[in-house]
Amino acid sequence: MVTAKITDWEDDIFACLMCGYCAPVCPPYQEMGWESITPRAKMHYLKQFYLRGLVDFLLKRKVRIDEKFAEAVYKCTSCGHCETVCPVDIPFAKRWDEIKQWLIDRNVADFPEHRQVYENVLREHNIYGEPHEERDAWIPEEAKISTHPEVIFWVGCAQSYRQRKVARDVVRILNAAGVNYSILGKDEWCTGAPLMRMGYTRAVRAQLAPHNVEEVAKTGAKTLVTACAECFRAFRRDYREMIGNPPFSVYHISQFVEKLVRKKRLRLTKPMSKVVTLHDACHLGRNCGMYEEPRKALKLIPQLKAVEMRRNREETLCSGASGGFNLIWEKEAANIARRRLEEAVRSGAEVLATTCPHAEEHMKEVARRANIPIETVDLVELIAGALESEEAEVTPEAHSQR
Ligand code: SF4
Ligand code: SF4
Repeated sequence: MVTAKITDWEDDIFACLMCGYCAPVCPPYQEMGWESITPRAKMHYLKQFYLRGLVDFLLKRKVRIDEKFAEAVYKCTSCGHCETVCPVDIPFAKRWDEIKQWLIDRNVADFPEHRQVYENVLREHNIYGEPHEERDAWIPEEAKISTHPEVIFWVGCAQSYRQRKVARDVVRILNAAGVNYSILGKDEWCTGAPLMRMGYTRAVRAQLAPHNVEEVAKTGAKTLVTACAECFRAFRRDYREMIGNPPFSVYHISQFVEKLVRKKRLRLTKPMSKVVTLHDACHLGRNCGMYEEPRKALKLIPQLKAVEMRRNREETLCSGASGGFNLIWEKEAANIARRRLEEAVRSGAEVLATTCPHAEEHMKEVARRANIPIETVDLVELIAGALESEEAEVTPEAHSQR
């Protein structure tokens, strides 16, 4: 068992300038206001713990890694904003995951809400604990699944079980462009993205990442496409850091659609007279640097008018739905989403488009409860809505196995 040590983060702990740039951008801090939950305070506390010595012991100074410190660390949505503003480049996006695993290993972090998700994934390979056998139940008859695919459509837990319309819309897009694709179905397991953000990194490194990369590689496909921001981050960034480069390229659907349109394989011709603003999902935008691709995809839709919220791209405000934060601190997570939704309304948009299924679900629910007049949709639904026809030509080798 590989266990992290505090010495692994020595450089970061001593690099912190205590400048405090990371405090005002931190969404949980914006809601709760306790200095102890700012990244600065957590770095300072780790430094004090690292430096503790005989004098602290004699003076009975208590610098302990305990449940209280763990709670401060977990008051984090994994949004990555602290990493973006930190002048000494502390790689927080990765660091918080590791520190959370370290706290679990020290038996000071055990949140039942997170443990449930972890156990669901170990048992049923999805975050909801739904039967694994039903993972492919959403696949429509029209899916033109190839036995020798060039592309794997990676679906993810949310779109396999909760947001099946989005997955079906991806199928419509791939069909319309004649893409030679396949879907893993029951061979697909949760990427573990939500688990990593809760600190269960070891299980992802040991089981989920090798399984998922191997299953995609076995198909011979050289391209993986996903419409889930969290799954994208897992394959594009986390897995690479954990187990090395996979033998295939990883695309977000917005990049892939732009490529298909450029190569004249896909036509988006149905006009959509709507004013739309894009919510940069933290794991696609800030954590993977994909800001322009979803915007380019929106521009491909005839008559759609795209507007920007005040906080966009690197400065995006998290929805509050990541890192398992919303499972524990529901009220604060809802307040974060409410502020984001109100910002969207102020931009003049009637539709809020996102690429994260968890952000979509969370913001939809908050908008419904707070009666905020904006429709939240997945970007894919807008793209599929601009397809001229649901009928598609398929490549000769593509055929249905169903
Ligand atoms: S990742 Fe986001 S929520 Fe977590 S400490 Fe940094 S700014 Fe705060
Ligand atoms: S922005 Fe970076 S250097 Fe400044 S206090 Fe935060 S962690 Fe430390």
